[in-house]
Amino acid sequence: MTKKISLLGATGSIGIQTLDIIESNPDKFTLVSFSAGMNIDGVREIASKHQPQTVSLIRREDAERLQTEFPAIRFVHGEEGLVEVAAHTNADVLVNAVIGSVGLKPTLEAIRAGITIAIANKETLVAAGDIVMAEARKYGVPLLPVDSEHSALFQALNGENPKRISRLILTASGGSFRDLSREELSAVTVEQALAHPNWSMGNKLTIDSATMMNKGLEVIEAHHLFGMPYDQIDCLLHKESIIHSMVEFEDTSVMAQLGSPDMRVPIQYALTYPDRIPMQNAKPLRLEDIGKLHFEKMDLVRFKALGLAYAAGREGGTMPTAMNAANEVAVALFMAGRIPFIQIEDMIERVMDAHRTSSVPDLETILEVDSLARKMVYAMVE
Ligand code: MG
Repeated sequence: MTKKISLLGATGSIGIQTLDIIESNPDKFTLVSFSAGMNIDGVREIASKHQPQTVSLIRREDAERLQTEFPAIRFVHGEEGLVEVAAHTNADVLVNAVIGSVGLKPTLEAIRAGITIAIANKETLVAAGDIVMAEARKYGVPLLPVDSEHSALFQALNGENPKRISRLILTASGGSFRDLSREELSAVTVEQALAHPNWSMGNKLTIDSATMMNKGLEVIEAHHLFGMPYDQIDCLLHKESIIHSMVEFEDTSVMAQLGSPDMRVPIQYALTYPDRIPMQNAKPLRLEDIGKLHFEKMDLVRFKALGLAYAAGREGGTMPTAMNAANEVAVALFMAGRIPFIQIEDMIERVMDAHRTSSVPDLETILEVDSLARKMVYAMVE
């Protein structure tokens, strides 16, 4: 029997790599539904190849056009379409690979439908981690990490007693500007920011890596996924991206997960967990060819956004929601050439300074804070 997969964000970087795994293992996986943005040619290709039940697009007109081309497939659109794809098919696993807090509602609906979640959409856990984790516990639904760091932690924790953890250590490549000083950051361009040294990822994630906000989001994600206090989550600069993260236990033993940087490995592990299968066209790790691995203490003054994320996480409640929404808009403004790189973190800080935290928010409050923080950032450039 094949495992039935629904996929949010099929034409993005994680989506494409997820499809690669599904297509390489037709005896193991079937794609039953997916969502995509505005890459209509990409949607045509995936739809003809996989013949899914349901496809969701952002715009109504795109959905209607493709409906006439593929009468056997059901086309839906918008936010409701995402929920439809995530929760209202017969999927066994939802791979949530959309970017941003737009992934929140479909994730919650899929959990309530009892569908296992493979989560690559870190903004959902940052915006509403307490609610998502509580629902997952309530419905007994596993949340399997797809982010390479969290997959590494998850693997290092296999069979361990979580009470014996002393620290989670997230590794960080440092992103495109790791060797620049804060002064040098003022003149960097979008093109420079998008050139990540190790990983090939989507644009938002690549910019988040350059500001180090990505690591900040991952710290909050780890806090929720592994129930770990912020004082026991550390970050370590490791420019080769070979050690994907580590867990230190009370007896000082450290378990690490290593591998060549290839996002398909954590994606596939989430799909086959607790089993493993061979990885097609993979580059096995040969440490003798790499020779040296480097590590450096993380500098929270240099990487200000990471400090902001720790502060938001420690404050909890709606503060991470506001921080995440501000970051999403600031990154979009930077990519549109409307603000300099260095202003991303300043905008996030201003939103956080202005935000009055609600400590145990319901979903409605979360969505309201998310929307207000976005408006506040747009107001700063108008
Ligand atoms: Mg990551």
